[in-house]
Amino acid sequence: MELPKFKYSPNAYSIDVFENEEDICSICNEERNIRYTGSFYSIDEPNYICPWCIADGSAAKMYDGEFNDYCGIEGVSPKPKDPKLKISKEFLLEITKKTPSYKSWQQERWMTHCNEPCAFIGYADTETIEPLLEELKDDIENNRYGADFIKSNLSKDGSLVGYLFQCLHCNQHRLHVDYY
Ligand SMILES: [Zn+2]
Ligand SMILES: [Zn+2]
Repeated sequence: MELPKFKYSPNAYSIDVFENEEDICSICNEERNIRYTGSFYSIDEPNYICPWCIADGSAAKMYDGEFNDYCGIEGVSPKPKDPKLKISKEFLLEITKKTPSYKSWQQERWMTHCNEPCAFIGYADTETIEPLLEELKDDIENNRYGADFIKSNLSKDGSLVGYLFQCLHCNQHRLHVDYY
């Protein structure tokens, strides 16, 4: 059976948020062999979420939960002087309710561009960003960790981790950096 695809997380099955495990999905009650292990914010915790129940929104609906924090989407909680958000609510809900998260220690952040959420491409290290430095200039420079520190220390699983996004309209890459 073909796995469902996620518009905003095209590489969902290779970013370490699913594992192979046979069991009954807590939502659809089907016997599945792939289980979601990423974050899910809800009061009651489902034992097993399959990718189909993420993609069609049924897991989020049944548990009134979110895979990605609404306020973590870039532009949702702007500072007073920031421009008003122009992203439609429908796109925002697709991120929170129908898109698997990615692995991070802190609250995930979802980058946006061209008035729509970007697609999460994967974890990024210094090598990943090397050919994209010009494109990522703003994200690297307007960052509390400093451009030089990022350019030399970014890793996929160390303490300074890069998260690479890409705009679905103009293909512009965006970078989120987390330090822990
Ligand atoms: Zn299911
Ligand atoms: Zn764009």
